[in-house]
Amino acid sequence: MAKIAMKFGGTSVADLDRIRHVAQLVKKERDRGNQVAVVVSAMAGETNKLVAWCSEIARPPGSNASALPDQREYDVIVASGEQVTAGLLAVALGAIGVPARSWMGWQVPIRTSATHGSARIEGVDGDLMNESLARGEVAVVAGFQGVAPHDRISTLGRGGSDTSAVAIAAGLKADRCDIYTDVDGVYTTDPRIVAKARRLERVSYEEMLELASLGAKVVQTRAAELAMLHRVSTRVLSTFDPDKGGTLICDEDDIVEKKPVTGIAYSRDEAKITLLKIPDRPGIAAAIFGPLADAGVNVDMIVQNVSEDGKRTDLTFTVTRGELARALAAIEHNADHIGYRELLQDATVAKVSIIGIGMRAHPGVAQTMFRTLSEKGINIQVISTSEIKVSVLIAEEYVELAVRALHSAYELDVA
Ligand code: ADP
Ligand code: ASP
Ligand code: MG
Repeated sequence: MAKIAMKFGGTSVADLDRIRHVAQLVKKERDRGNQVAVVVSAMAGETNKLVAWCSEIARPPGSNASALPDQREYDVIVASGEQVTAGLLAVALGAIGVPARSWMGWQVPIRTSATHGSARIEGVDGDLMNESLARGEVAVVAGFQGVAPHDRISTLGRGGSDTSAVAIAAGLKADRCDIYTDVDGVYTTDPRIVAKARRLERVSYEEMLELASLGAKVVQTRAAELAMLHRVSTRVLSTFDPDKGGTLICDEDDIVEKKPVTGIAYSRDEAKITLLKIPDRPGIAAAIFGPLADAGVNVDMIVQNVSEDGKRTDLTFTVTRGELARALAAIEHNADHIGYRELLQDATVAKVSIIGIGMRAHPGVAQTMFRTLSEKGINIQVISTSEIKVSVLIAEEYVELAVRALHSAYELDVA
């Protein structure tokens, strides 16, 4: 008998018929003699609606300005979508003769940090759920939520049900974590923008982590990280065609064919800040990035020019669009200390990245990227690299063109 964690995303549980379909898939897995824990997302669109309600109700009467709700209450509100689907699936299972019990994050419990809105899972106690599984029940867990210190409900950031599923699989010491979604696996790039994208039979933990963190939202970044950390054997497959395809996220050693580039990711959630004519002296980077860190802003790409006269230089860095206003405020607040002449901002940029463990062994991979983009007349604004990825910042309007051109250049197009 194996222990399996199954996860179903928002489109997979979008209405009652789909929830009934999910119940059948769960029943099938249980009929094979397996113990099953299921993690569910909110019905498609539900979390967006709840997030919008939070912002609306937080606005002072008569004001049009956007307001931030109290993050603890935000979590109480947005976590509710998953409570509904967990209950509905438990009932749907009961209706086809499968004993099932729903579990909210606090009941498992799934302990998280206190960072409401984007909490990190710190531990999953599998004992109570394991007892329930041993009684023959299917455990239906509300994804996306946990319990923070002081027993407050917390949520894990958008797309967080993937992370709940991998954490549950690790906590229960499950044999496998199956992530069911609206595509039949992890593709060489987002199949919604590249029709010729190809499904990957296997992808390494490390590549999945890079793909996710660089924008491929098929699996949440933290889920890829946890899968890698706990070596959870994870599959991505389609709810609507479960017997077709699928992708196994696995150890690098289990992948035979290592092409120079495995996949291409993109992110539009980028903004660029440039400080012109900053003093070229020791401590200047600390003077800029210290206040940003204090303001909780994550800085991604950074370039500093060589100064022509040894006195002044320019520095460019990127942040997410959601953090742009906070980043600008932190810089402007410290303007005198930093001593820049001008501050420029641009929120119409995007990041395109090529990822592949094969890059380590193939020289010249980045050059193909630069040449391909130049042939399309796309200007590269910032570059950053690591051992298994190269990222470039470009104007947002060229994202799809860039991804398609690179997909062909690295011979990833489906035949
Ligand atoms: P769920 O609601 O099931 O969690 P998501 O919408 O979060 O589903 O993730 C699935 C979507 O991820 C797909 O519909 C696809 O458009 C997108 N996606 C982005 N990059 C990739 C990729 N490399 N492979 C597969 N899907 C991708
Ligand atoms: N319902 C949450 C969201 O839409 C979590 C998830 O679907 O994974 O972000
Ligand atoms: Mg998702």
